[in-house]
Amino acid sequence: MEEEQQWIFMNGEFVRKHEAKVSVYDHGFLYGDGVFEGIRTYDNNVYKLKEHLIRLFESARSIMMEIPYSLDEMTEIVVDTVRKNDLENAYIRVVVSRGVGNLGLDPRSCGTPQVIVIAEELALFPKELYKTGIEIVSVATRRNRPDVLSPKVKSLNYLNNILVKIEANLAGVPEALMLNDEGYVAEGSGDNIFIVKNGVLYTPPGYVGALEGITRQAIIDIADDLMYTVKEQPFTRHDVYTADEVFLTGTAAEVIAVVKVDGRVISDGKPGQETIRLTEAFREKILQDGTPVYKKEMKA
Ligand code: PMP
Repeated sequence: MEEEQQWIFMNGEFVRKHEAKVSVYDHGFLYGDGVFEGIRTYDNNVYKLKEHLIRLFESARSIMMEIPYSLDEMTEIVVDTVRKNDLENAYIRVVVSRGVGNLGLDPRSCGTPQVIVIAEELALFPKELYKTGIEIVSVATRRNRPDVLSPKVKSLNYLNNILVKIEANLAGVPEALMLNDEGYVAEGSGDNIFIVKNGVLYTPPGYVGALEGITRQAIIDIADDLMYTVKEQPFTRHDVYTADEVFLTGTAAEVIAVVKVDGRVISDGKPGQETIRLTEAFREKILQDGTPVYKKEMKA
């Protein structure tokens, strides 16, 4: 879509992309004070919209910010934004910032929270990498301690993850592996990690510091259905290096195989058979768990 044709939902109305601007006094801009969600649509179905919006409302509740819409209204806003942009396969970003205030930290100076919804086509990694798998490195930046800033709060404060991404860029790889302060594997900069060993799936539990992603949960559910054993337990880099398979999951990343970690080739250096099987099952299930985006003419 032409950039100037794109519609952004901003505080109750749709505006063109070039008009969608926020004040420099917005506390989301000044302090990262706000929350967000990343959601996807597949073939006119918004995938797990309810789960994403519940997480958005829980993040907001946790930081004492009231979203000026109900869950039902937000559902409609998201679906309307996709429809307005005529997108069948879109990545949707929902941002709720504390709003415009003064220069002090105190959120009480802010007016109503700003609600912004952006929908556009996005693939996090080049298409080719979904076939070949990617290389990742573990980085020096550690995951925030969950007792300091809970990973359950999907806040606009993503500096921790951005520093990880910068380290990945410096290493010339598309994604990185973040450890927690005890050296256990936590997650990627914006995705969760799974390893497969002897047919069993392992993923770090939330208390290690990982965001308990919606795609992660979808993979756990699919793996359960397919009779895999799934263990949410802490593991180290050694376990990743010696795994049979490694893959990452996330709304933006979707499911992507990892074939090299810190220079160690995983198995034969190709996406593993369980990763491929789970990815295919995930793709099949995507449409069953969606909220339909009816075309304009189909709406009653
Ligand atoms: N970890 C982090 C830090 C993330 O930002 C994301 C993206 N929301 C994920 C994991 C994956 O979560 P989900 O599957 O819900 O997109």
